[in-house]
Amino acid sequence: MASADSWAPVDAGSDFPLENLPYGIFSRTGQAPRAGVAIGSNVLDLSVVAVEGLLDSAVEGAAALFSADSLNPFMARGPQAWSAVRARLAQLLDVRDRTLRDLGVAERALVAQRAVSLHLPFAVADYVDFYSSLHHAANLGRMFRPDGEALLPNWRHLPVGYHGRAGTVVVSGTGIARPHGQSKPPGAALQFGPTTRLDLELEVGFVTGTPTPLGQPIPVERAEEHIFGLVLVNDWSARDIQAWEYQPLGPFLGKSFATSISPWVVPLAALAPYRCSAPAQDPAPLGYLRGAGDAASIDLSLEVALQSEAMRSDGRPPEPIARANHRDLYWTMAQQLAHATANGASTRTGDLYASGTISGEDAAAVDLRDGPPALGSLIELTLNGQRPLTLPDGSRRTFLEDGDTVRLRGWCGGGDLPRVGFGELTGTVLPAADARAPGG
Ligand code: MN
Repeated sequence: MASADSWAPVDAGSDFPLENLPYGIFSRTGQAPRAGVAIGSNVLDLSVVAVEGLLDSAVEGAAALFSADSLNPFMARGPQAWSAVRARLAQLLDVRDRTLRDLGVAERALVAQRAVSLHLPFAVADYVDFYSSLHHAANLGRMFRPDGEALLPNWRHLPVGYHGRAGTVVVSGTGIARPHGQSKPPGAALQFGPTTRLDLELEVGFVTGTPTPLGQPIPVERAEEHIFGLVLVNDWSARDIQAWEYQPLGPFLGKSFATSISPWVVPLAALAPYRCSAPAQDPAPLGYLRGAGDAASIDLSLEVALQSEAMRSDGRPPEPIARANHRDLYWTMAQQLAHATANGASTRTGDLYASGTISGEDAAAVDLRDGPPALGSLIELTLNGQRPLTLPDGSRRTFLEDGDTVRLRGWCGGGDLPRVGFGELTGTVLPAADARAPGG
C-alpha cells in the first residue's frame, strides 16, 4: 500500500515513510549532535523545528529536549509526550501542512542522511539480553547437551536473560575489534589470544522511557507504557571465550566487548499496525507473566547479510545468509519487562532490553541450498562450525573473519501495509589489537 504523502520526498520502498518517523541523534560537519527523525532519505532536524517554537504545543521545553546529544531527556518525558510529539511531527510533515515551508524552516531543517553522522541514539543505562527464541535455545541446547533435553527445565517458565555491559553498546558503523580472551578447546591447552570463533547474533531490542523506582515491579499489562521504541541489535559473541567461561554464572567477556544497535529508534506506536499474536505458551506461565493481550508480538521481518573484504572490493553487495521474524519469539517484550522487574528492580531511562538471538527453525534440519534459513547466528547456520557457508566470492565461513561486514535489516509491512523499517545496522570486524595476556 502506498504510504501517506509528505512534502518531504519518500522513495517507494523506503524504510522511512511518514508512518514511521524513527528518532535518532545526528550531526552535520562542525555542528553539535542533536535529535532528528528520518523521513525518506533525509533527516528532519528537530532542534531547528523546536527552536522555532513549533513543538511547544506538544511538549514543554522542546528546544532543550531536541538539542540534547541523546534521546534520553525526551524518552524520560513518558508516553503522553511521545504521542503528542509524534502526532505533531506527522502533521508538520504532511503534504497538506505548509507551516515548515512557509516559515522557511523546511530548507534549514531537512538534511540528507548521507551528509550527516549518526550517533548512538540514547545513553544506554542498563543492558539486559534475553534468550527468548525457543528455536535458538533448543538449537544451542542440542549442540551443547546432545544427550540431554534441548531446553533446560526453567526455559518455558521464565524469560531467561543476563545483565550485559551497557558501556560497550555502540552505534551501527562502529568497527568491532576481534577480542582477546581465555579459551580451552576440548583436548587442547588453556590459551589466551584473539577469538577464532567470532559470531553475530540477530536480535531486536527495546528501550525504556520513564524510570520506575526500586521496589515497584512493572505489571505485564502495563509494561508497554514504558517502552519508547525498538532498535536492531547485533550481540557480537566470541564462542570460544563464552564456552570456557559461561558456567556457572553465564555470559561475561565472550559478550561484553561490543554490542551494536541501529541508529534509528522506531517508536512502538509506529509498529501498531503490525501487531500480531505471540506463539502459544505451554505450559501457561505464572500469573505475573500473563495478561499482555493477544497482540503481544510484532510481525517484523529480519535479515542478516554478510560481505567479505573481497566482496566489498569487487563491489558485491552483502549476501543474505539468514531471514527470521520477531513474531517467532516465545517470550514477548511485555513479559520480558515484567519479569526483569518482578523482584522490584528499578528501571532507568535508556535501559536496553534485547530479545536474544531470533531463530525460527531447527538448525540440524536446514539445507543451506534452500536459501537463507531462519537461524540468527553463525553457530546455528554452520552447526558449530561443521557446515560452512559459501559466500559469492567463493570463500567459506564457519565464523567471522577480519574484514567481514555484517548487515542486519528489519522491516514491517511492504505488502498491504506501508513499509516501516529500521534502516541498516552494520559492523565490520577489525583485526585484533596487539595485546598480551596480563602477566603473560
Ligand atoms: Mn544475545
